[in-house]
Amino acid sequence: MIFCLSTNHAVGATVLLAAAALVTGWPESQALDTTLTVSERAQADNDNAEWPFHGRTHAEQRYSPLRQISPDNIQRLGVAWLHSLNAYRGLEATPIIIDRVMYLTGNWSRVYAFDAATGQRRWMYDPEVPGKWGRNGCCDVVNRGVAVWRDRVFVGTFDGRLVSLDARTGKLIWEINTIDRALPYTITGAPRVVRDKVIIGNGGSEFGVRGYVTAYDAYSGNQVWRFYTVPGSPSGPFKHPELEMAAKTWSQNGAWRQTGGGGTVWDSIAYDPELNLLYVGTGNGHPHARHVRSPGGGDNLFLSSILALNADTGRMVWYYQTTPADSWDFTATQSIILADIEIQGEIRKVLMQAPKNGFFYVLDRTTGELLSAKNFVTVNWASGVDLQTGRPVETGLGDYSKQDRLVYPSELGGHNWHPMAFSPRTQLAYIPALEMPWVHSPTDSYLFDIGVPHIGELERGQPTVDRGGYLRAWSPVRQKLIWQVKLPSLINGGVLVTGSDLVFQGTQDGFLHAYDAVGGRRLHSVFVGVGIIAPPVTYSVAGTQYLAVLAGFGGATHFMLAESAAARRYENDGRIIVFKLDGGPVPLPPRIPYHKPRLTTAAPDKSREIEEGKALYVQHCGFCHGMSGSVPLLPDLQRVPEMGYEAFRAIVLDGALAPRGMAGFDDSLSETDVKLLFRTIAIGAHNPPTHQSTP
Ligand code: CA
Repeated sequence: MIFCLSTNHAVGATVLLAAAALVTGWPESQALDTTLTVSERAQADNDNAEWPFHGRTHAEQRYSPLRQISPDNIQRLGVAWLHSLNAYRGLEATPIIIDRVMYLTGNWSRVYAFDAATGQRRWMYDPEVPGKWGRNGCCDVVNRGVAVWRDRVFVGTFDGRLVSLDARTGKLIWEINTIDRALPYTITGAPRVVRDKVIIGNGGSEFGVRGYVTAYDAYSGNQVWRFYTVPGSPSGPFKHPELEMAAKTWSQNGAWRQTGGGGTVWDSIAYDPELNLLYVGTGNGHPHARHVRSPGGGDNLFLSSILALNADTGRMVWYYQTTPADSWDFTATQSIILADIEIQGEIRKVLMQAPKNGFFYVLDRTTGELLSAKNFVTVNWASGVDLQTGRPVETGLGDYSKQDRLVYPSELGGHNWHPMAFSPRTQLAYIPALEMPWVHSPTDSYLFDIGVPHIGELERGQPTVDRGGYLRAWSPVRQKLIWQVKLPSLINGGVLVTGSDLVFQGTQDGFLHAYDAVGGRRLHSVFVGVGIIAPPVTYSVAGTQYLAVLAGFGGATHFMLAESAAARRYENDGRIIVFKLDGGPVPLPPRIPYHKPRLTTAAPDKSREIEEGKALYVQHCGFCHGMSGSVPLLPDLQRVPEMGYEAFRAIVLDGALAPRGMAGFDDSLSETDVKLLFRTIAIGAHNPPTHQSTP
């Protein structure tokens, strides 16, 4: 699994010289020097008061040493300030706090700057993403945050631009296009800045694009290097030498030749300044099914992999593929955390990841050597990971090329993008874990409980699992579950851990919870009225510790609104909420009438025509409006019959609501298709009966 390439020094040197020439022409910034690593800054300013990088430091541990808010006084937590972002879809960003200013992103890649102590708004920047780009996203019009460096703010926009803003004013400095605009690329991940370069990837694997990650010069926006995660062609020419090796792991033919293969770098990036290595997680393949994507075998490098790249040149130093020839949407884009931990009496520089495939990995981050791997959720597709070969040992229970299979974990993963945290004090990782299977079939795939008539048969002989969402404290040293909390719904927020041994996590039912990091006891809960999927952060200004979190439910799983979801009772009014000790009460959003999950009761219409309508729905509508029925967070499709065909046609075909995010589909649907869709939705046939309720 380990592969080393000699670094191409000649290319690297040219690039560095070009960057150096630009550096000398640049006026010195008045702002805090954020080019320093956090350990360097900590020496100069040892209160560690800020949250300057996505995971607070380049190691991405999401650990803050602050201790003013503690188990002894957590009951006194109250609101310092709060702002509604007028966003009613998912909020996923990690706020960045530098020099008393908080920078964050909302829907449609909008950027906001607030005074971190008073909440006074400094500025807002709207990149004006075209509403019609909404249809290019699998997983809502979300954004996971900015990078701040010197006096600049960087954001990747949903329509594939990288934007540089003046941190003081929010005014545009430059913007560049990072994608082929004819293809459904999106950017939802946060950029990272290392050594004067902005690193950004993209999303789009669900719709068939070719993944890559790019470094741009932070001053000029000029491209420095780009690493493709998929070869493009089995026979070359290859954009960089690593792809020649990768090409041998793909078939000559297969769907990947048409779709680009996937493998997008849509979220996790970490950096070790000592080794000068960037660690990048790559996504699933497209299409998901290996027997369709690349028939005849092969690992399909670099899908579902962790790549260690030289930050200056983009050349690969090692890779580790978590799921060779992935067939289940098992991305390796989940949190990558770096730490130095003691393993068998020796301090090792490790990299940790709990990707979707259900195994917790500990790798040597210098060499990529697999040190240990153990499943942190129920897994049936593999019996374990062979430490000699580094490969999962497949059981065959995940092979759906010829028959339906119930596979653990689900396509949502044992852990999705919601960040985990690691405390150097407790030596534990805190994972938002998901216990759920999924039904894969040779022709389609389903949420495990929706419209699968023979589900009982598939469940026979499978492990008994208490399905749902968990917060799990995991020891990477012992590869063992230390404590866990079962949560009332499957999808919840990311995690923060602090120097006072407090673990914070928000939940879909609208709470922010604090736990004892050592034993897992729930110490305090605050009801905020809005579902939380984002990770909390903490920082200190003028001696006061603050705790901030974005609340706003949505994202990939916006259509899986739990019965307990806050969004069924309160307006899903997205907001930044900042707490401190002895703050005020939490202002709640307006109440709404309770939305009971609505499912059709009509006898299923199995006519060929309606089956065609359902196929159109799944292909063109389901990613946003829900594969299993209407989404309470978007306009209710069950009102389509009241709307009438002409209005439906104006929206779906002509794009009447495109500025509001509902694109027209006149490039891919005919009048006949739209009539068929109207009929299918009007009788509720897009909305199959549920087998049992999803937690
Ligand atoms: Ca995916």
